[in-house]
Amino acid sequence: CGIFAYLNYNVNKERRYILQVLFNGLRRLEYRGYDSAGIAIDSSPARDPNTSQCSSISITPPPLIFRQEGNIESLVKSVYQEVAEVELNLEESFPTHAGIAHTRWATHGEPSPRNSHPQSSCAGDEFLVVHNGVITNYEVLKETLIRHGFTFESETDTEVIPKLAKFVFDKANEAEGDQVVTFSQVVLEVMRHLDGAYALIFKSRHYPNELIACKRGSPLLIGVKELRENMVAGSAFEDNYSLSNNGHPQEFFISSDANAVVEHTNRYLEIRDGEVVHLKDGGVSILKFENDKGKNGSSHYRPAS
Ligand code: GLU
Repeated sequence: CGIFAYLNYNVNKERRYILQVLFNGLRRLEYRGYDSAGIAIDSSPARDPNTSQCSSISITPPPLIFRQEGNIESLVKSVYQEVAEVELNLEESFPTHAGIAHTRWATHGEPSPRNSHPQSSCAGDEFLVVHNGVITNYEVLKETLIRHGFTFESETDTEVIPKLAKFVFDKANEAEGDQVVTFSQVVLEVMRHLDGAYALIFKSRHYPNELIACKRGSPLLIGVKELRENMVAGSAFEDNYSLSNNGHPQEFFISSDANAVVEHTNRYLEIRDGEVVHLKDGGVSILKFENDKGKNGSSHYRPAS
C-alpha cells in the first residue's frame, strides 16, 4: 500500500507524461503489497486564476478517476483503453497540474474498483482522497455524515474523509457566503475529527492546481525538483514553515516511500506527524496541526501567519 502525487508548476507537461509519472510512482510502491490501485487527473487545464473572470466559488470540470482491482499494469492497461475509448488527448498540455495515485492494501472493504482509491466526496467528485492506514472512528463519522444527507458508495473507512472535507467546505461557505476558506483550513478541520493512523493526499476541484498532504503515524515525504537554494535537503521544517516561489518552474512529488521520489530528485523532506503540507502557486507551506482532543474534546490549529 502506498500513496503518491505529482504536481508540475509553471512547466508544461503533457497528459501522457503526467500519467507516466503517476504510474511509475505506483510501480515503485508496488513492492509494499497491494490488491488494487487508482489515480485521478484533471480533465482539462485549470484556468489561470490571474486572468479568469469567473467568481471565486466556480470550480473546475470533474476530474478523471481510474480505479482497478489487481496490479498496477492492469490499471495502466485499463487507463489507456479508456483514454482511447473517450478519445482523450494524451498530448494536451498542462502548465500546472496536480495528480494523485494509490496502491491499496484493503483493511475495510474487499478489493474492488468501488473500494479502491481515490475515494470521493460525492457525485461530482469535489474532493478526492488517497489514504494509507486506518481511520479507527470511521463508523461514528459515517453515521453523522449519513444523517447530514451523504450517501456512501464504498465499504472503506477512507470514504468518510473526502465527505467530511465536502461537509466542512460547505459549512464554511454557508457561513461566509463565498469561498473564503483555504484548502489547508478545510483539511485541518477534517484532521480534527480523525482518529487512527494515516497518510493522506487531498485533491479538489475547488482548489485547482493545489494539493494537500498530511499524516499521523504513517510515513510521508515530499520531493522538490529545481529547488531554490534556501531550501536544504534534509533540513527540518520549522513550525508553520513556508517557502514562497516567484514563479520558478518546479515539480513536486509526494510519496509514502522515498523510493518513488529519489528517481526524480534527491531533495526531499520527511513530513512529520501532525504536519499539513500545502502545495500552491509553486510554494510549500507547512502548517502544524495540534491535537488536544483528549483534553477538552476539541482541537485547534495555528494557521501560518
Ligand atoms: N484503510 C484503507 C482502505 O481499506 C486504506 C488501506 C491502505 O492503506 O491501502 O481502503
